[in-house]
Amino acid sequence: MKYISTRGQTEPMDFSDVLLMGLAPDGGLMLPDTYPQIDDATLSEWRNLSYPELALAIMSKFATDIPAADLEDIITRTYNADTFGSADITPVRKIEDNLYVLELSNGPTLAFKDVAMQFLGNAFEYVLKQKNKRITIIGATSGDTGSAAEYALRGKENIEVFMLSPHGKMSAFQRAQMYSLTDDNIHNIAIKGMFDDCQDIVKALQQDAEFKAQYDLGTVNSINWGRILAQIVYYFKAYFAVTDSNADKVSFSVPSGNFGNICAGHIAREMGLPIGRLIVATNENDVLNDFFNQGKYQPRAADKTYVTSSPSMDISKASNFERFVYLLLEKDTPRVHELFDGVKQGQGFDLSDVMDTISGQYGFAAGKSTHADRLATIKDLYETHQDLVDPHTADGIKVAKDLQQVGEVIVCAETALPAKFAETITEAVGQIDIARPAHTEGLEDLAQHVTVLDNDAELVAEQIRAHVQAVA
Ligand SMILES: *Cc1c(COP(=O)(O)O)cnc(C)c1O
Repeated sequence: MKYISTRGQTEPMDFSDVLLMGLAPDGGLMLPDTYPQIDDATLSEWRNLSYPELALAIMSKFATDIPAADLEDIITRTYNADTFGSADITPVRKIEDNLYVLELSNGPTLAFKDVAMQFLGNAFEYVLKQKNKRITIIGATSGDTGSAAEYALRGKENIEVFMLSPHGKMSAFQRAQMYSLTDDNIHNIAIKGMFDDCQDIVKALQQDAEFKAQYDLGTVNSINWGRILAQIVYYFKAYFAVTDSNADKVSFSVPSGNFGNICAGHIAREMGLPIGRLIVATNENDVLNDFFNQGKYQPRAADKTYVTSSPSMDISKASNFERFVYLLLEKDTPRVHELFDGVKQGQGFDLSDVMDTISGQYGFAAGKSTHADRLATIKDLYETHQDLVDPHTADGIKVAKDLQQVGEVIVCAETALPAKFAETITEAVGQIDIARPAHTEGLEDLAQHVTVLDNDAELVAEQIRAHVQAVA
């Protein structure tokens, strides 16, 4: 299988090259040139596979330049009960009739990003070794992404990680998760500034071509194709968990920000998984809700993005959205290029003429959840079902309940555990004991390792020079 760019100006590439990439050289996103088609007989075969077996069956269709035995090794080292708490990896639990929760957050950092990032860590290490290369990952995080990346890349060979976070802006739990790591290849840097300042520093360093080449800079952000691929697997797993026959349809409600998670659902649906609807749930940052209801995309500027109680969805420019628009526009790469150049300049676009395709052929629907909705949903689930969900998952459930049609089975993605967002849980249901996985007990008491720097890219560059050998 070859990979191409949504903007059509990049030579076709193999999986292992795409894996280490951020944006394509032409500014687009990399995608497989076709989505493999899964027929009914294959679906039936896959129904009884374990998570790692299913992951191998799906991923081997995309990662065609990695020998099957090596891919299997990467997968079995990634998806096991030690890392994800159970052999199911992503179990499904029932909330009420026709409404389920897909548990994606039982990994090391208690958020769904672990499912993909743990795979990426092992896959990166493997590919770097094969190519005799190294990589210096620099990233900016306001919480979930940074910790998931650090827990995936800690101790990996030929990988150094410099993770920038806004000084004093993360929760005590998030700080403890990241800063307590003691691995030599993990470098936490707290910037005296906001998340956007961290992101600007990362951009500035990435744009310095000489520095980038000297230190082999790379990223693991949400546009990485390997992350999307790893996320396709659990849509199949969840479908099999809640159906008896391939004749049944299942819809998914997904708390969304950068459109990475639901993009994987969209690809699973395109591969032939009998998904009914793909429901995009947003918080107050409702740019995607507007698009999937009206066909108009108008991203907000970073400084117009609301700070909400489902913070991992506080995104106003969905970085993976271009992958869907490419397909929607029937692979018209010049048009995709034009539209997203406009987005870069702060313009929006209007595709309301293909609204029927968006909701019909592609099965998309969307809804929005606010702070009050999220609190009410958490409280209601807790009081009615003794089930505690985190604020992001609550957004997904709220929207699912609003949009659910008679007889429609909906699986809601659980994108984080409540323990990560204790403050909002307490606001919703009062002071209660919030269950925490054993491996996080006492986390906040551990010594923390972080370098606090002024908001200046040069100071970060100095840190990289101090820890990584430059190549001439
Ligand atoms: C990252 C994240 C999301 C949003 O996922 P996308 O793939 O960016 O749409 C939702 N909830 C939580 C808890 C997250 O960490």
